[in-house]
Amino acid sequence: MSPPPSVVHSFRAAAVKAPDRTALAYFDGRLSYAEVDALSDSVAGHLAARGLAEGDRVALMLQNTPHFVLALLGAWKAGATVVPVNPMYKTGEVRHVLADAGVTALICSDRAWEAYLREAAAGSAVRIVLTACELDLQTRGDQRVLDFERLPVAADAEDLIEVARRGLHAPHLPQRAADDLALISYTSGTSGQPKGAMNLHGNITYNAERQRTGQGIAEGSAYFALAPLFHITGMVCQLAACAANAGTLVLAYRFHPGVVLDAFAEHRPAYTVGPSTAFMALGAQPGATREHFASFEVISSGGAPVPPALVEKFRADFGPYIRNGYGLTECTAPCASVPPQHEAPVDPASGTLSVGVPGPDTIVRIVDEAGAEVPFGEQGEIVVAGPQVVPGYWGRPEATAESFPGGELRTGDIGFMDAEGWLYVVDRKKDMINASGFKVWPREVEDVLYTHPAIREAAVVGVPDSYRGESVKAYVSLRPGADTDPAELVAYSKERLAAYKYPRAVEILPELPKTTSGKILRRELRDRAR
Ligand code: ATP
Repeated sequence: MSPPPSVVHSFRAAAVKAPDRTALAYFDGRLSYAEVDALSDSVAGHLAARGLAEGDRVALMLQNTPHFVLALLGAWKAGATVVPVNPMYKTGEVRHVLADAGVTALICSDRAWEAYLREAAAGSAVRIVLTACELDLQTRGDQRVLDFERLPVAADAEDLIEVARRGLHAPHLPQRAADDLALISYTSGTSGQPKGAMNLHGNITYNAERQRTGQGIAEGSAYFALAPLFHITGMVCQLAACAANAGTLVLAYRFHPGVVLDAFAEHRPAYTVGPSTAFMALGAQPGATREHFASFEVISSGGAPVPPALVEKFRADFGPYIRNGYGLTECTAPCASVPPQHEAPVDPASGTLSVGVPGPDTIVRIVDEAGAEVPFGEQGEIVVAGPQVVPGYWGRPEATAESFPGGELRTGDIGFMDAEGWLYVVDRKKDMINASGFKVWPREVEDVLYTHPAIREAAVVGVPDSYRGESVKAYVSLRPGADTDPAELVAYSKERLAAYKYPRAVEILPELPKTTSGKILRRELRDRAR
């Protein structure tokens, strides 16, 4: 089946098919598909009444709450392009995004607006502001989530719910087409200044449909939103895939291991996706049991490296097999994943876990510096072409030409493919360490550190060294109650890695710095080391 033109269509189709099914669950609150469809119509009407025009950019800066979904669909129904903004961004970062994307409307929490967004938006093109009452973990159980007073919706919301329940379309709202611009998604900024990838509606629905058909999850199942919805992985693999499957999206504001485990117990989700750091945190949470994970049909880990030792430990302790998946903002989340009937192989030479195989319409090539394809097993840059690859970066023709020559995405990741078509990501090109002229890929060293029972998180960076050029340094955090020291960890690595690869220094930190989507920030550690 070909994907619908937009996620708006998926929600509406589900509202027609199963109007009373729960679309969104948030602590004690529930919204049905009919309610979500109607309330988002109402948000659209409200935005249009305040002067929002087709093609305008709407910044959406909320955590994983029902408001996020209503605002997203409402802005799309009004014909706007949505710019998801990480709610953890500080004033300067918000200013950059508002200016870069030419944002004219902002939807955010009332608290953030008062605290600093009013100031951040001053002098920008923003002229429409909708604020939603913010719910935090202190107010869980409080029914305010279903009180839309603070996210203004038109007075006819109740009528619209009735219309949606009867399967009728609200005729005044423009429908989105597959080649309309859905999102300007700023990359995580793991390696530098975030750039706005232009995700089309069709990029999103293609990948959501691939998730729906490829994973074999029963229609109407619960999807737990572990990854933030403002990040492309959360938006596509959770929100859009759940709607394509007419499922229930379970939201829990922000990642908090105890709250997440409670929600697993209550909603019995079949699917979730998150960075491997989130699964480590869930596994380390006191009281976590196999029963918490018993309902899952698929658990995916995307957007960051997955250490094989973690996959095995998680399976031994809790049961599920964590499926690796590879994706970038520029290819609208996944472009390779592990099919349900398989397990990802581990490369015997490097110990790297495969990220899966490319989807059916996706072409992944491994190329050398000159752009020529390299043979199976040889390393080179990963290049991706397919229906999920975006047409470029917003307002950056030079960066677009550089990263998307001929429409293919040059990922900046080094990888290789084996003869059976399994793809392996070695590391980011930019993170390579040059130690005495030898290439060291931080990932390989981190994977070895993760086999040590005391280690919770590991990140490896190059530090300037007058003798070697660069030397290898590891930062780690430890599991609760673990007992080790840097000298023991250096010795452990030395036993398992070639002389030029093992870390000459290990520093133990209480916690490693991460992006809010859970990726460890090697960039910050490099700065710290320097
Ligand atoms: P920026 O481009 O601003 O540095 P970012 O690259 O972190 O940010 P994302 O699009 O969120 O932005 O992340 C994509 C990157 O994440 C990939 O290029 C790759 O390096 C890494 N990645 C994604 N999935 C995996 C995986 N399964 N294994 C290893 N690395 C992965």
